[in-house]
Amino acid sequence: MALQRYNNNMVTADLPDFSKFPDSNVVFVLGGPGAGKGTQCAYLAEKYPTICHLSAGDLLREEVAKGESSELGKEISYMIKNGLIVRAEVTVQLLQNAMAAHPDKKVFLIDGFPRAIAQAECFETMVGQCRFVLFLEAPNDVMTERLLERGKTSQRIDDNKESIVKRLKVYADQTMPVIERYKERVVSFRGDRPKEEVSADLDAVFEPLV
Ligand code: ADP
Ligand code: AMP
Repeated sequence: MALQRYNNNMVTADLPDFSKFPDSNVVFVLGGPGAGKGTQCAYLAEKYPTICHLSAGDLLREEVAKGESSELGKEISYMIKNGLIVRAEVTVQLLQNAMAAHPDKKVFLIDGFPRAIAQAECFETMVGQCRFVLFLEAPNDVMTERLLERGKTSQRIDDNKESIVKRLKVYADQTMPVIERYKERVVSFRGDRPKEEVSADLDAVFEPLV
């Protein structure tokens, strides 16, 4: 596929080679905590009915809500509070179940996954390859400010200063290597712009796929 230039807000100037895994219906969505992954995935899923948005964090929080007294519920809750990465097999199994529940969808946006190399490997073994990785990039101070603002009302146990610092460190240490691993397949946009501007760029990427 010929390389295309989108606009100056794209961090990587060229589009990845979408033709490498043309049969894959999986798009990983990565970026730091607060980069706008959930916001943009919700926008895309609302606009395009064949897109399914699956947030790894939401699936884990649902699991905690189901059984906070269970050993697994306690383990996940501890990991979330400390910004740590939940075991790969737990997260991949939850994603696999959620995908199976939506057999009619054309594209699965897997938001906040894989957060570490081991998860990427586990997913490739249990499910398959991703088509490409959507990466939203924003400076730490912008992301921190957004999460603290959200924390005023979100009731999330990790939207506080202490947890955010830990989440940013885990992101830098463990998630950035995932971006490097998939660098041939990464399409990257600046997330520190108005929501509508980011969404317009994403429309250009997803319209041809849905
Ligand atoms: P992520 O899923 O990457 O952690 P979210 O999409 O949940 O991030 O966004 C975190 C917070 O920042 C939310 O309160 C959201 O409303 C806000 N937000 C998201 N995108 C933007 C944006 N482009 N500009 C300003 N605020 C944003
Ligand atoms: P998020 O909802 O993406 O902000 O994620 C909140 C928290 O859920 C993270 O800090 C992790 O503790 C946990 N989490 C989210 N996604 C994953 C994942 N892919 N693997 C393991 N843990 C995750």
